[in-house]
Amino acid sequence: MQLGTVPERLARNQYDVDEGTPHIEVHQDVVRRTGAAPLLVRICPAHVYTEEPDGSVGFTAAACLECGTCLAVAPDAVGWHYPRGGFGVAYRQG
Ligand code: SF4
Repeated sequence: MQLGTVPERLARNQYDVDEGTPHIEVHQDVVRRTGAAPLLVRICPAHVYTEEPDGSVGFTAAACLECGTCLAVAPDAVGWHYPRGGFGVAYRQG
C-alpha cells in the first residue's frame, strides 16, 4: 500500500473549525519578553505560527494538528487546549 508523501497524507485530514472560539491563545507580552517567536515558528509541524516584525506571533488556529508541542515547549507564551468536542482535525491517513 502506498502511503504517499507527508504533505499528501496531511492533505487528507479534515478540519471542522470552531469559528470565533480559537483553541489557541498567544500571550504576546511573554513572547516579546522571552523571544519565543522563532521557537514557536520552528517547532510547529503545521506552520500555525508566524513571526511578525514587531516580535509578536501571528497564528492560524484552523491549521492545528493538535500535537500539543507548542504548549510543551512554551507553556508561558501559549494558552492551548483541545478544540471543543466535534471540532478540530480528523485524521484520514488510510
Ligand atoms: S498543537 Fe502542534 S500543530 Fe497545533 S499549534 Fe501547537 S505545535 Fe502547532
